[in-house]
Amino acid sequence: MSSNQNLFERAQQCMPGGVNSPVRAFKSVGGSPFFVSRAEGPYLFDVDGNRYIDYVGSWGPMILGHNHPDVLDAVIATARQGLSFGTPNPLEVEMAEFLTQLVPSLEMVRMVNSGTEATMAAIRLARGFTGRNKIVKFEGCYHGHADSFLVKAGSGVLTLGLPNSPGVPAAVADLTLTLPFNDLEAAKALFAAHGPDIAGLILEPIIGNANLILPRAGYLQGLRELCSEHGALLIFDEVMTGFRVAPAGAQSLFGIRPDLSTFGKIIGGGMPVGAYGGRADIMRQIAPSGPVYQAGTLSGNPVAMAAGLAMLKALQAPEFYGRLTEATNKLCQGLTRAAHESGLPFTTNQVCGMFGLFFANEPVETYEQAKAADTARFNRFFHAMLKRGVYLAPSAFEAGFVSIAHDQAVIDQTIAAARASFAEIA
Ligand code: PMP
Repeated sequence: MSSNQNLFERAQQCMPGGVNSPVRAFKSVGGSPFFVSRAEGPYLFDVDGNRYIDYVGSWGPMILGHNHPDVLDAVIATARQGLSFGTPNPLEVEMAEFLTQLVPSLEMVRMVNSGTEATMAAIRLARGFTGRNKIVKFEGCYHGHADSFLVKAGSGVLTLGLPNSPGVPAAVADLTLTLPFNDLEAAKALFAAHGPDIAGLILEPIIGNANLILPRAGYLQGLRELCSEHGALLIFDEVMTGFRVAPAGAQSLFGIRPDLSTFGKIIGGGMPVGAYGGRADIMRQIAPSGPVYQAGTLSGNPVAMAAGLAMLKALQAPEFYGRLTEATNKLCQGLTRAAHESGLPFTTNQVCGMFGLFFANEPVETYEQAKAADTARFNRFFHAMLKRGVYLAPSAFEAGFVSIAHDQAVIDQTIAAARASFAEIA
């Protein structure tokens, strides 16, 4: 038995599904996961000595590639000073200053430990600030696993076909209203019916948890206007897109100023970090300056702040996002060409360091279209690529991530593996 198989057998005895986060288990693509012992640049190495070109990047944070020396050095140097103090520390101030300078809508920010914590706190704040109870989310968007968000969610919820999780009381779920993404008329109708009760509208400005779906021209602006008109807060969940699609996230790409934003992944440099922030008048409602309670034993952890700061600073290199965009473009163009050579229906969506692959004939602009793509074919493609040393997200409903370490040679190798894989599954 291989070390991978042995570990998975052991893991299943003592961990639900053998994993600590559902999509890792390969349930929808079939087969069993590999166990990674080391990662470097664009590569993962498993316990059986296999090397994979990695397009998951720890689900987003690894935009510099794995084990970047700046991040590693910052973590080691900071850890030597102590792992956690439970007092204010200088690095969290530096982080808050850095974030608020980079993102204009972020007048104040609070650090937490995950994306889930950030979104959970953001909607509590929206409710506390407005005195209203309902929140609006979009079909296929994933905002972590807090009760209010497990309603028509994306990511693992969608992959595993669990649209509404047991354990979420109906009384809570009923306060979450849902909308189809990219349909402004539907949003107008919902606000016309429920406007005075809506505390906030939360969305991924670019959906990365139902494969990759981009907003139509003017859509986000339309949502911004609707929220302002009805006194609801506009909350951009930039846990995935923040510092990934542009230096100041999707909000800078589309020129929208949300009232609140949430971040995670990249801002922790690979450590467990999240953040939420926005308008100062709203953020001042958070304890201890205001009455809306939210706290965290390890929040602002110095080692995590050092990792995140080192990563954010490295992203300020000239032409960083241009180079990342170019790498993603080359990848998507090469994959599309190779798929069409095998006569397969295939289309991609992409933005800077994020991409989505669809076995579909038409461009994909909606959640329904993403769901209608051929997922069975994707599952076969996933395994064909894995066999050739390329690791894509083990689900047709997750965006892919390119890092700055994915150079021309790595992209070329990926396209060569894809050409053979497409021929195999055609
Ligand atoms: N929001 C978005 C947009 C996400 O993609 C994710 C995680 N993929 C989360 C929130 C939840 O973050 P975490 O897994 O760190 O709790």
